[in-house]
Amino acid sequence: MLKAYFQQSNINVALKMLALKKAERLSVGQLQNLQTKRFKKILRHVLKYSRFYQGYYKKHGIRLEDIENISVKDLPPISKELMMDHYDDFVCDRFLKRKNLEDFLSRSKEPREKYRNIYTVVHTSGSSGTISLFVYGPDDWAVIKAMVVARVVKSLPHFFRRMKLSFIGATDGHYAAVSLSSDVPPLLARFLPLSINSPLESIGQKSNAFHPDVVSGYSSGVHLLAQEQLKGHITIRPERIICTSDPLTPEMREAITQAFGREPVNLYAASESLSMAAQCERHENLHLFTDWHIFEAVDDDLQPVAAGTPGNLLLTNLYNYTQPLIRYQMHDEVVINEQPCGCSLPFPTIRNMAGRQEDFLWFDTAEGTRDYLHPIVLVELFVSGLRKFQVIQTRRDEMLMKVMIAGEKEAVLAAIRQRMHEIFCGKKLEKTVKLNLEVVQDIPNDPITGKFKLIIPLKN
Ligand SMILES: [Zn+2]
Repeated sequence: MLKAYFQQSNINVALKMLALKKAERLSVGQLQNLQTKRFKKILRHVLKYSRFYQGYYKKHGIRLEDIENISVKDLPPISKELMMDHYDDFVCDRFLKRKNLEDFLSRSKEPREKYRNIYTVVHTSGSSGTISLFVYGPDDWAVIKAMVVARVVKSLPHFFRRMKLSFIGATDGHYAAVSLSSDVPPLLARFLPLSINSPLESIGQKSNAFHPDVVSGYSSGVHLLAQEQLKGHITIRPERIICTSDPLTPEMREAITQAFGREPVNLYAASESLSMAAQCERHENLHLFTDWHIFEAVDDDLQPVAAGTPGNLLLTNLYNYTQPLIRYQMHDEVVINEQPCGCSLPFPTIRNMAGRQEDFLWFDTAEGTRDYLHPIVLVELFVSGLRKFQVIQTRRDEMLMKVMIAGEKEAVLAAIRQRMHEIFCGKKLEKTVKLNLEVVQDIPNDPITGKFKLIIPLKN
């Protein structure tokens, strides 16, 4: 208990920040050694504590005794589906059960609330449509906090007043980005969450009244704020702007820079790791934080691709000892650069993430105007018992959700209806938009692209 108390403390975060700063001064070789040491440590941990990894690796002939001679490339990759299908055996902590975590998520809408007072739980469906959970223990979470403060936010607290931090995105649940940004110590900073699912006018008014020093959020959300500023509806002067989660396109970057007189910093983060890479002061490439991760770019047969060519990302998270991800298939395409950045950091870089841009859905409102449902609220949708889904707009005032569910059918469908009703209410669309649900056994990928499409807007 005392240990958990220390792990959650700001002292622990500060100590980890010092170690992160030290890693920034290592040579490429020293950084590689640190990464290898941490990889062996977490591999030893999963072979001791995760029943899933024990069985999975055993099938591939990998044993605890062989650790010294094993490199990450010898291990078989894992997928999100494999992880979720074996969740209770996958995690390294016997207190964690999928059913109990889902109950907690259904009950708790406050992102700062911890499961059993210590675990941070986040969820996402991402662009793959499969709902998944990620749990971080207190020490795992301290690494993330330290990484984001030391390498992304960077700005020091103001000495005579608390820093003001605003976040725009999905805010009414345990989504990764809001869970992290709302977890700043109240002594150091004031926090303003801005729900992307509320009317734009109220987002603008709240921002104006708050005057944030740091604006953070989904790239598309920060871009909306920039457009409001350019139209003259708001006047804020943030010192630092952090864009994450969805793609920051060159057009968005230009509008944000023009609106606020500062370039945004692009942060590559996901529920699988909330701080994987970020742009340095040159605002070009993103530096991969290889002291706490291993990144591999592979082709469709999971073979490594040459530097400079696009590949699918395999992620190994070296700090999450609660739900360890080793050679986990992210649904992101990356290009790892051959050439160093040119700044002082030893970390390799990737090109700006193309990422996937999901479509906005436009509907008729009761007042005869049109308003949109932001893709984030669908990408981040969580309902207990909902396993996978796809949203198809069928008319200007109608949408169909194909759903794969587990558990008691009628109860899960009622919960989906309830959650969607709340989302429609946020945009005042509840009276006009009709929701149809269709229970299916499978949702195939798009036959043309071969990829899964989460949101299919109305043609024309
Ligand atoms: Zn750099």
